[in-house]
Amino acid sequence: MANNTYKYLLSDLKNLKGVGSKTANLLKRKKINNIFDIIWKLPKSYTDRTKSTKIKDLRIGEIQTITLVPYKYNFPRIRNLPNRILCKDDTGEMDCVFFNSYEGYIKKVLPLNKEVTISGKIGLYKNKYQITNPKYISDDVSLIKDKHNRYSLTDGISEKVYNKIINQILMNIPRLDEWHESEILKRFKNISWNDSIIELHKPDNIGKYKSNFYERLAYDEILASFLVHSEIRKKIKKIKKQNKVFNSNYENNIISKLDFKLTKDQKKSLNEINQDLKSNQKMFRLLQGDVGSGKTIVSLLAAYNVIKSGFQVAVMAPTEILAKQHFKLAKKIFDKNIRIEILSSKSEYKEKKIITKKLIDNKIDVIFGTHAIFQKKITFNKLGLIIIDEQHKFGVNQRKKLSDKGGDNCDVLLMSATPIPRTLTMTIYGDMDLSIIREKPKSRKEVKTYSKLESKINDILKFIKKEINNDNQVFWVCPLIEESKKIDHSSAIKKYEFLEKKFPNQVALLHGKTDPYDKEIILGKFLNQEIKILVSTTIIEVGIDFPNANVIIIENANKFGISQLHQLRGRVGRGQKQSTCILMFKSSLSENAKKRINILKDSTDGFKISEEDMKLRGFGDILGFKQSGMKMFKLADPVHNSDLFELAEKQIKQMEKNNIDISKYKTLMKLYDQADVINDIV
Ligand code: ADP
Ligand code: MG
Repeated sequence: MANNTYKYLLSDLKNLKGVGSKTANLLKRKKINNIFDIIWKLPKSYTDRTKSTKIKDLRIGEIQTITLVPYKYNFPRIRNLPNRILCKDDTGEMDCVFFNSYEGYIKKVLPLNKEVTISGKIGLYKNKYQITNPKYISDDVSLIKDKHNRYSLTDGISEKVYNKIINQILMNIPRLDEWHESEILKRFKNISWNDSIIELHKPDNIGKYKSNFYERLAYDEILASFLVHSEIRKKIKKIKKQNKVFNSNYENNIISKLDFKLTKDQKKSLNEINQDLKSNQKMFRLLQGDVGSGKTIVSLLAAYNVIKSGFQVAVMAPTEILAKQHFKLAKKIFDKNIRIEILSSKSEYKEKKIITKKLIDNKIDVIFGTHAIFQKKITFNKLGLIIIDEQHKFGVNQRKKLSDKGGDNCDVLLMSATPIPRTLTMTIYGDMDLSIIREKPKSRKEVKTYSKLESKINDILKFIKKEINNDNQVFWVCPLIEESKKIDHSSAIKKYEFLEKKFPNQVALLHGKTDPYDKEIILGKFLNQEIKILVSTTIIEVGIDFPNANVIIIENANKFGISQLHQLRGRVGRGQKQSTCILMFKSSLSENAKKRINILKDSTDGFKISEEDMKLRGFGDILGFKQSGMKMFKLADPVHNSDLFELAEKQIKQMEKNNIDISKYKTLMKLYDQADVINDIV
């Protein structure tokens, strides 16, 4: 069969019979742009019209199928009154009721004294059964007596139309050449892609997640995504770069002056990064580690090595304060002759111009700033490494652009403070090499975590009073009351007013609407300990080091997932002092909530917590990946299909190792490519 049979699947919806621009536009609004997209809108349930019911056995509120005989029309001459057709079978009587229907139509579909089969939802009116505006009426029983899939419908498209569209697609679905090896296919009992799709839409197969057809399709999807990642990685690896030349004396010099020892994981990660820097393949690496695991020092040591080998480095942080913290640290630990600058939105125009010029002239070795560094028209003389402390969750597409932007000699190190389950890491960051810091610095005291009922707020106030008197600082986190209203700060504002009365001039407020300029000022004041309590919604950055803050109160803790609670908790416990996290609840905890909270109390390992969180809540909601607009899978589920993720990872590794040609998989990749990167790479 021709190689481009798959193109039918990617063709416009208007190519379908019965789909005009109106229907196509309605679907497009739901991000259904082509035939392939619509295949994945699965039936939620089905209507079984296969069994006939006698009138005496009808059940109100259910969809039922009845064979009956209309015997009298009642067409009232008064407007707004419905047309009523009296019908009977050998067990009783009922009515068919039509609002806004022409008499001619009714006479055609329900001729008097002829048997018809009719299906619809049974209602009761003045003690008599009735069906209102029935859509399924026919004298041909077989046309009615069927199972009809029910989909969650797009506004403006009826179930009947929808079923017609799907049936049409299923009838015409092209037979694609098999892309899987027979080994893999065996795992799915050799079912083809085409047959799998057809099985997927059979009413009786709804919810059969462990079936061969469902798993095959899930696997296709996972493999496609991994293949795309693998191609990107290969492409980046193919770029030959000038390798960085340095030896361990440089970093050891700095390390020996630190007042702590690097953890095993920090050493291991630094080693992996150094190997990449020294090689002549471009580095594209993710450094993943919980908040407070000590990523900054690792990245600065790598930066130092790169500088020592004669290249420039750019370090990007999500906020100005954080950029400044990194900048200060570099100033402190790097030799005096290393030229360090910071570019801030507050820098004067003249100063910015000077810095820009110096970068071109290679008179700056390392520049710190926010992500804006890259948006501005800044040219480097000899950029050798970009370090990005990740705040926004970059999609695969953005990451690739970033890697291209630095030029061939530029290595890329991304840092992420959101520990996520392994299956998710594979899915989201599969294009990157991975270094993980799991182990926390030994000096770190564990944050004590308590739960407390809201009614006991006076105890909490007493507690923070004591802490403040001991020169400690407090975060007070209020969730948005209505998650859907991203601008709902009412609870934070009220709490601020409440606390300000109890602790005059010691409280500040931050929320999503706070002006960015004011925000930096407030955070600065908190850092300088001019204020003691910072009330906020969850918007405040996780990365900033406030070593003096050692208490975090999280209100209405039920509103957060445990991964998120763990992240919030990570804002404290960075200094030498004992830290406390108090989770507040409106009412006593349910069993399930207790389970979640106990996971949090028992563990400080963000990776473990995120795994548990995913098992309890599914992956979609974890850590805002959903909100970030990152596209996830249609069928595959990192929790339930974790075995398939492992299998795909194994297959990809083997393919990479043996240099397997991927042309067989092109159709698969083209169909499933979610990030639209495929045209760029294959
Ligand atoms: P993150 O991984 O969240 O970026 P940071 O790099 O900001 O973490 O580190 C948090 C704090 O831990 C910093 O004050 C840093 O100096 C300190 N730190 C880093 N590594 C160690 C270590 N091995 N032992 C003790 N403290 C460390
Ligand atoms: Mg950090």
